[in-house]
Amino acid sequence: MDRPICVMKFGGSSVGSVERILRVADIIYRKSKDYRPIIVVSAMGNTTDRLLGMAYSITKDPPPREIDMLLTAGERISMALLSMALHEKGLEALSFTGSQVGIITENRFNKARVLEVKLLRVKEALNEGKIPVIAGFQGVSTKKEITTLGRGGSDLTAVALAISLGGVRCEIYTDVDGVYSLDPKKYPFARKYDRISFEVLSELSFAGAKVMHSRAVNLAAKYDLPFYILSSFHPEKGGTVVERYLESPGVKGIAYKNVVMFDVEGADDRFILEDILQEIEIINYSHDSTGKHLIFTIEEGDKSAMIKILSNSNVRYTIREELVMISIVGWGIGSSPEIRDQVSDVLRNEHVYNISISDMRISFVVDAPKKDELVRKLSERFNLLV
Ligand code: ASP
Ligand code: MG
Repeated sequence: MDRPICVMKFGGSSVGSVERILRVADIIYRKSKDYRPIIVVSAMGNTTDRLLGMAYSITKDPPPREIDMLLTAGERISMALLSMALHEKGLEALSFTGSQVGIITENRFNKARVLEVKLLRVKEALNEGKIPVIAGFQGVSTKKEITTLGRGGSDLTAVALAISLGGVRCEIYTDVDGVYSLDPKKYPFARKYDRISFEVLSELSFAGAKVMHSRAVNLAAKYDLPFYILSSFHPEKGGTVVERYLESPGVKGIAYKNVVMFDVEGADDRFILEDILQEIEIINYSHDSTGKHLIFTIEEGDKSAMIKILSNSNVRYTIREELVMISIVGWGIGSSPEIRDQVSDVLRNEHVYNISISDMRISFVVDAPKKDELVRKLSERFNLLV
């Protein structure tokens, strides 16, 4: 019997230097004894940020098409270098761009959605006993333009490939050895999970946990594709399996992200909302009781896009910055009176700008300097430390 297929995705820190790339080649070499690997890579280290920095030092408003053309170059570098490293190990590898393997996306730049994965070249390479090394985060649109899938999009490439191959094993290698109750790099006493449900990880990722792209988790959940999160620095430590699984209720983790709030005056919400919704993933929107002030909470990273939209409309606005949205995540927590009591106890003397509650998540916005103290208090309160 032929060895089963395993999609292995290596993130930016895993391929951050030539030494790291050689380490990754070792991991793949070992895996290839029992599996036929298909590799997905991110750009090396902070290459994507560096490329963006160069673009914005030329123009404040780079054409989105050229941004995608530029950023897709990052993944090309790591895929070619990793293929060379595999050749050095005596493995035959072939690198491919997203467009070469037929990752077909909608015709939209910077955040295109995947419509179809054709697996062009991939099966052929496997049949010839070769290891395909595929550039993550990129595709080709229905109009033959090169597109990217949004920041962190290599996770999506890996999950989409594993699904298209009929639900094969999927391993996501990163710089932490699994899913923790808190970011273990910032909070070394965080607790690690051997197993976690799609839903909890999806909420944590949406709320700011960096371990995996939330859209990739949702895609895996939709097709019921279990996947593994492992460390490329310590693969022997084992990781976390993310799968369909009915967890016990209660708080499982805490995540946070930097946000800003816009107070927009003099706008007709029907017009402005449409433009904003198309471009920006709004975290929270409301208007005051007079209807004159529209209040938006958005991710800090979307700030300049928001300013651009508002400047093109005839409105006045103010921005409140240096805010953080902290979220606790777990089954049934939003509807548990005990948990709501404990949260309000922790927040008793805080200035809270905004609270949102769903069955799986309680999020609140506070001043950014408060983050560490509140995360600590919440993790003690909900028993999230080892
Ligand atoms: N290189 C891209 C980014 O930095 C995609 C990824 O790493 O998943 O966002
Ligand atoms: Mg990532």
